[in-house]
Amino acid sequence: MRFPRPSHSELLELLSITDAAELDALFKRAYEVKRQYIGTKVWFRGIIELSNICSKDCYYCGIRSSNTNVKRYTVSHEEVVKEARWCYEQGYGSIVLQGGERSNKAWTDQITDLVYAIKDVSDGKLGITLSFGEQSKEVYQQWLDAGAHRYLLRVETANPELYKQLHPQGHSFENRVKSLGYLKEVGYQVGTGVMMGLPGQTLADLANA
Ligand code: SF4
Repeated sequence: MRFPRPSHSELLELLSITDAAELDALFKRAYEVKRQYIGTKVWFRGIIELSNICSKDCYYCGIRSSNTNVKRYTVSHEEVVKEARWCYEQGYGSIVLQGGERSNKAWTDQITDLVYAIKDVSDGKLGITLSFGEQSKEVYQQWLDAGAHRYLLRVETANPELYKQLHPQGHSFENRVKSLGYLKEVGYQVGTGVMMGLPGQTLADLANA
């Protein structure tokens, strides 16, 4: 069942609550709704941090490209497939492959090969979520065709001005939003989100997200 989306002013009102008793009532109500529609089951999802190499330089990120204090790694194809098989054999329903953003063909083909291999070792049953940043529509399609079905691409803030403050030149809010559009068009289940508590963020920014 789908709930009607709260209006901007309703969201602002909820986000503005500071009274402890009102907050408690809000959290209790949220839990009731969650329990009614999702239940109390816990779903395991195996997350594999595939690589911390990234071409981007987001100011808030520990693995931003200009941080020379980070030891960079990429997990081998064989190791990832081995871990994915283990997840499948333990009864996991899906796994997430996550890593920094790189768009060169050797890398995007490597992800494609991995998705095929994971589908293969799990009899096609293990769901695969990817999170490798902004890519072309063709690459998103290639990964979907290989067997991925969900994609996580956080937009971090719904305020383009704030986005600009958090990123150096060459990082585009518009491109981020365009990439989310590509993912929807291609047919992924798309997850996105914003960071809470950013310096300069307003409650209206959160309500707009
Ligand atoms: S794109 Fe992601 S991984 Fe890369 S620097 Fe930005 S936040 Fe970090």
